[in-house]
Amino acid sequence: MTAKLIKGTEIREEILEEITAEVKDIKEKHGVVPGLVTILVGENPASISYVTLKIKTAHRVGFKEIQDSPSADIAEEDLLALIDKYNNDDTINGILVQLPLPKHIDEKKILNAIDPDKDVDGFHPVNVGRLMIGGDEVRFPPCTPAGIQEMIVRSGTETSGAEVVVVGRSNIVGKPIANMMLQKGPGANSTVTVVHTRTKDLAEHCKRADILIVAAGVPGLVKPEWIKPGSCVIDVGVNRVGEKISEKTGKKIAILQGDVDFDAAKEIAGSITPVPGGVGPMTITMLMRNTLKSLKFKLGIQ
Ligand code: NAP
Repeated sequence: MTAKLIKGTEIREEILEEITAEVKDIKEKHGVVPGLVTILVGENPASISYVTLKIKTAHRVGFKEIQDSPSADIAEEDLLALIDKYNNDDTINGILVQLPLPKHIDEKKILNAIDPDKDVDGFHPVNVGRLMIGGDEVRFPPCTPAGIQEMIVRSGTETSGAEVVVVGRSNIVGKPIANMMLQKGPGANSTVTVVHTRTKDLAEHCKRADILIVAAGVPGLVKPEWIKPGSCVIDVGVNRVGEKISEKTGKKIAILQGDVDFDAAKEIAGSITPVPGGVGPMTITMLMRNTLKSLKFKLGIQ
């Protein structure tokens, strides 16, 4: 059996089209568009490329977009003042601080200074709490977990009553996706197990999973014999395992591998995400959706 591929690149296009149409509609009816500010401190090349992609996507869907790029030696209090400025800017609905920040700045302090109603990354403790409560309380589900849930739902996978096993318990992927899948409501209602490095028998847990979500950051961790036949496998892992020359650009690019042995797993699973082109493209897409949501909350049109 060859599994159905759940392609993030295709689902991204569907969602970005939906966002673009909604932005157009809101602009016509209310005369406003969502506003997103990206704050990039310093010149870390990886951060520059992430922010560039976010800016490009924001333009594509018709957002107002502001870039603020203070130098790496900005004082913590000046960065806090910058955040305060955007917290009080009525045209801004989402504030994104690109991580990592320089060592002299306390990341936690900065993230906690963002108005929770503009925290489109969903990392502020208030939004983590809202996510835990679930239902109408949820404002901004963190972007990667939100993308994972969207892929599961749009691939037609039944989540209600499903055994979901999440490998990894990080604050940005494992814990939030586990919490989201156990909530009472559509796209969830699952029975969830979270496994990590202290779990006694990782393989036995994985073998029970109707939906296996792997976010460990260990290339090839999940072996094909751990996969339940016909299950849905979401591989969040993005591991650089080497370099190659791109056929398109002639430049050196990273060879990426997921946490699942993809070639063997696709012969057993019912559906599976590839790496690259699976979960990766969903994260920025969901950032756009959260920014749109933020404006809709403000306008009272949820
Ligand atoms: P992380 O903070 O390093 O957490 C990894 C988790 O996996 C930890 O909870 C760890 O357990 C667990 N783990 C590691 N090795 C394990 C093993 N051998 N057996 C069982 N559990 C193990 O990583 P993260 O930030 O969640 O990211 C995970 C992966 O997803 C990375 O490859 C990252 O690049 C990728 N990622 C992709 C996207 C995207 O595509 N947009 C976004 C975010 C992350 P302990 O807690 O016990 O240490």
